[in-house]
Amino acid sequence: MDRRRQVERGAGTLLPGIAAAALAVLLTGGGAVAQNVTTKYVRYAYEGRVVYGVLDNGMIRELEGELFADPRETGRTVALSDVRLLAPCQPSKVIAVGLNYRSHLGERPAPVEPGIFAKLPSAIIGPEDEIVIPADASNLHYEGELVVVIGKKAKDVPVAEAADYVFGVTAGNDVSERVWQRGDLQWLRAKASDTFAPIGPAIVTGLDYNDLRVQTRLNGELRQSERTRDMLHDVEAIVSYISRYVTLLPGDLIFTGTPGTTQAMQPGDVVEVEVEGVGVLRNKVVAAAGGA
Ligand code: MG
Repeated sequence: MDRRRQVERGAGTLLPGIAAAALAVLLTGGGAVAQNVTTKYVRYAYEGRVVYGVLDNGMIRELEGELFADPRETGRTVALSDVRLLAPCQPSKVIAVGLNYRSHLGERPAPVEPGIFAKLPSAIIGPEDEIVIPADASNLHYEGELVVVIGKKAKDVPVAEAADYVFGVTAGNDVSERVWQRGDLQWLRAKASDTFAPIGPAIVTGLDYNDLRVQTRLNGELRQSERTRDMLHDVEAIVSYISRYVTLLPGDLIFTGTPGTTQAMQPGDVVEVEVEGVGVLRNKVVAAAGGA
């Protein structure tokens, strides 16, 4: 079962007694206690290297090996304040779900099945990176979202087994150009232009991802706030549905939809997406350099 797998993955980073106690509670049906055994994975640049680590109380324990296979701690540690955090993974593909909160539907009917579209891996940026407004964009919106990180190859996965394929979650901003979204043949420009997929700051395992608060702040003002339990299609339904058509690989990302309403960002704005238990993904918005 997913909960047990996640606990076991996290157990190596905790005191054995605590992990065993948490596992015992989980296995005896202790309810929403999964948050006791979360692990935060970060990817970062430090001294000319790019590595993964486990973030814990402001310190990072460096890992080696494949994050989605069998990562091992090297014994080296570094302070979070001494590194530059990067986008926490490099997926082969980025799928997104639209219209997945009733609060975001407006006049539109609720989709019977998840409405999916693609973003591009080249659109990904990390924490503190800049969202660049293309020169001819006129209505670029934020969309704060929970983002699912796939842990193992998934094809034709039943809903009941889908949780086993979820490694963890992170926060994401499904940056969207509304004019292009309405007018283009497909949403490639609107959703997949460079810098239109900020993610981070960490991938977190062990969270109850179907009940987390997602918040977006624009220049410090709260603009979106809703819990993922309000999603029309939950994480397992989404993973299962997508896997009917697309083979998902470790590290692949699924943006799960944005709640409420959104608005345009302007150069100089700072947008923050906070997912409960994950942290705050902060990005500044800038205009494209002139002469493009
Ligand atoms: Mg979206």
